[in-house]
Amino acid sequence: MPRVKESQAEIKPLREPKWRQQFRRHLLNWYRKNARELPWRAEVSLYRTWISEIMLQQTQVATVIPYFERFMAKFSSISALAKASEDRVLRAWEGLGYYRRARQLHKAAKEIVDKHDGRFPTNFDDVLALPGVGRYTAGAILSIAGGQRQPILEANTIRLFSRLIGYAEDPTTSKAQKILWQFAEEILPRTKVGELNQALMELGSLVCSPTPACDKCPVARQCNAKLYDLQEQIPLRVKKMKYVDVDEMAVVVRDGDKLLLRRCRPDERWAGLWDFPRFPAPARPADVDSKQIAREVKLLTGAKIKVADKLTTMKHGVTKFRITLHCHSAIFMAGKLSDDTEYAWVTLSELAEHPLSTTGRKISQLLSEN
Ligand code: SF4
Repeated sequence: MPRVKESQAEIKPLREPKWRQQFRRHLLNWYRKNARELPWRAEVSLYRTWISEIMLQQTQVATVIPYFERFMAKFSSISALAKASEDRVLRAWEGLGYYRRARQLHKAAKEIVDKHDGRFPTNFDDVLALPGVGRYTAGAILSIAGGQRQPILEANTIRLFSRLIGYAEDPTTSKAQKILWQFAEEILPRTKVGELNQALMELGSLVCSPTPACDKCPVARQCNAKLYDLQEQIPLRVKKMKYVDVDEMAVVVRDGDKLLLRRCRPDERWAGLWDFPRFPAPARPADVDSKQIAREVKLLTGAKIKVADKLTTMKHGVTKFRITLHCHSAIFMAGKLSDDTEYAWVTLSELAEHPLSTTGRKISQLLSEN
């Protein structure tokens, strides 16, 4: 692959004040005309920016918007969030995925109440010390909502900066990260840092996307990848995720009008969320008989059941797993539930109050419809 070398004349201006001024001017002019109207931009505060940044980690903007609005309506302040039960927080997060974020957010809110009198800290190291907050998130919160001169580097800006400086090597190595963070710092203005950081992310997201729209780019004349026609090769693609196909079984156990829920343990996929009893399916799920399902449920929960019907089969992807879930219904017969896990017997309408795994919610919707 052709490479852009540091010694090439064109890359030098990147370090020069004139280049930086021009870059910022073109970028900010473009941003002021093209910035999306987003709820966390309509009213900016440290709390709102923090919540939006955590939600936006590994999640698309369009997905986050309704979650952000509902979350803010439920937990309008740090103290309201700190006082809420974990179930309420997880219920508000349900469907957004990566639930560790919600648990850490909740923990961080409690820490802010305990250590900072309920006020979001403004010292960089204090922000960085909060659960779930890394260098990027701390920089984004403090620059956008605190006006501090802090650089940022995340997926969109890694792609944008790599192309601008013509960095054709793997951008995930520590050497690359050092170069990219340094660039992020060098292009910061003295004021309006938050606006510039948002403009950089917006450009990376809307224009300098994986398939870049260079003809619409306000900084195309300053881009090394464009100059050398390397937009498609930069950033270097690192290995794609390898998907793992898994078959699982979930059983809706009824006792009268109550249904059995089991809270996922910390080492399980949906840690902290509720789910119907679920276990890995044997090699040929279609051949599994009722006795085998009853045996697995007894092993998992302690409950003796009688399997009734096959409800449905659904497919769902979580991180690297592509899950095929075979769902059955069953009647509770007897038995004491194991005490190493939390269980709840709930009515169909009470399911709405419990934070469920994504497939658990789909099963609950199916039960409601029927
Ligand atoms: Fe990205 Fe193309 Fe703009 Fe370069 S010219 S920053 S590759 S959109």
